[in-house]
Amino acid sequence: MPESKQEAGQKSEAGEKLASSGDCHLYTPRMKNFKKPQFSALFVFTALLVVITFMFTACQDPNGGETSHTHTWGAWADSAAATCTEPTKETRICSEDATHTETRNKEGSTALGHIFQWTAAAVWGMETLAVGVVCNNCTETNPESRMRLTSDMMAQIPAGSFIRSGYTITLSAFSMGKYQVTQEQYEAVMGVNPSQFINNPDGEEIQERRPVEMVTWFDAIEFCIKLSEMAGLDPVYDMTVTTRHANGYITAAIVEVDWTKNGYRLPTEAEWEYACRANANPATTYYWGNEEDEITVGENAWYRENSNSKTHEVGKKLPNTWGLYDMIGNVWEWCWDLYGDYPGENQTNPTGAPSGYARIQRGNSWDAYIVDMWSASRSINQPLFLFNSLGFRVARL
Ligand SMILES: [Zn+2]
Ligand SMILES: [Zn+2]
Repeated sequence: MPESKQEAGQKSEAGEKLASSGDCHLYTPRMKNFKKPQFSALFVFTALLVVITFMFTACQDPNGGETSHTHTWGAWADSAAATCTEPTKETRICSEDATHTETRNKEGSTALGHIFQWTAAAVWGMETLAVGVVCNNCTETNPESRMRLTSDMMAQIPAGSFIRSGYTITLSAFSMGKYQVTQEQYEAVMGVNPSQFINNPDGEEIQERRPVEMVTWFDAIEFCIKLSEMAGLDPVYDMTVTTRHANGYITAAIVEVDWTKNGYRLPTEAEWEYACRANANPATTYYWGNEEDEITVGENAWYRENSNSKTHEVGKKLPNTWGLYDMIGNVWEWCWDLYGDYPGENQTNPTGAPSGYARIQRGNSWDAYIVDMWSASRSINQPLFLFNSLGFRVARL
């Protein structure tokens, strides 16, 4: 403390020296040049500030008041459990004076985040969180209404690899929709159902759970953005300069992607194929194996021979070993990737050609021939096209 005063005093003296150079004083009428005293006044003021600051920092005990000893701190110990918005705190106490304490966030501890109770929505596979629902851990309430897919709509896909054209394609873990997005889910998010197959479902099938179709690639991107926002997740895509057809569907847009975000998105082509194959070892032609007879294929997929030329309620055929339904047949599925030749090298988390226009679609549809239904079969379309045999499913980190 004395040192700081001395230091400040030196500054103050220096200031006065400056001010009195030319043998004149501050504010004296003899001063012709008024800039000089102004500069000096500023200097004195700064010096005073420095003195005051040093006085506070040097003299004030963390708990207020002055202390004459050097603290001898004990061990850090938990002092407050984590709450929704605050991490766990820990405190240490001075052994010289138990009223002297220091508190900090415990290392590695984070806030828990509010836990709100979501409730099942009228829409199959979705749940909502109403405004005003009280947190299970504290008294705060949910500020904004939310909607998302229920967790049992998403399959957890483990990290791994598959062979493509002789090269190893390695993928990080991600989650993938077990089902193609249904007409009802699409309408819940977008407010419209653009599908062509809107009545006359087959047999006992539920109309609302038929897959959405007649969506452009841009529409699928917009769905992912909106669903992410409704769920309170960070959108993976940013879509701007959007051009809409009079009928509402999007025909052009600039889409940017941030793979680190946790929102819903389209699978990449590699993710799609990896998820479709579901770690079949050795790799098989179809996800159910190599069988091409109508009975086996018909147990697994809606295709030309059994579809009755229409889409079908999702999830009515056998899932693959990772729990994904309709990976082949029913409707084609938009993927993220721009079309291009596969690079002749091993890749990790590839995201498609660096440039181009056409987008990948995978999985074939109710109109498929068996020869086009293998897991590796790829197709493309312009992103502004829409068909009654083309929909999508979502993926997430
Ligand atoms: Zn102390
Ligand atoms: Zn809370």
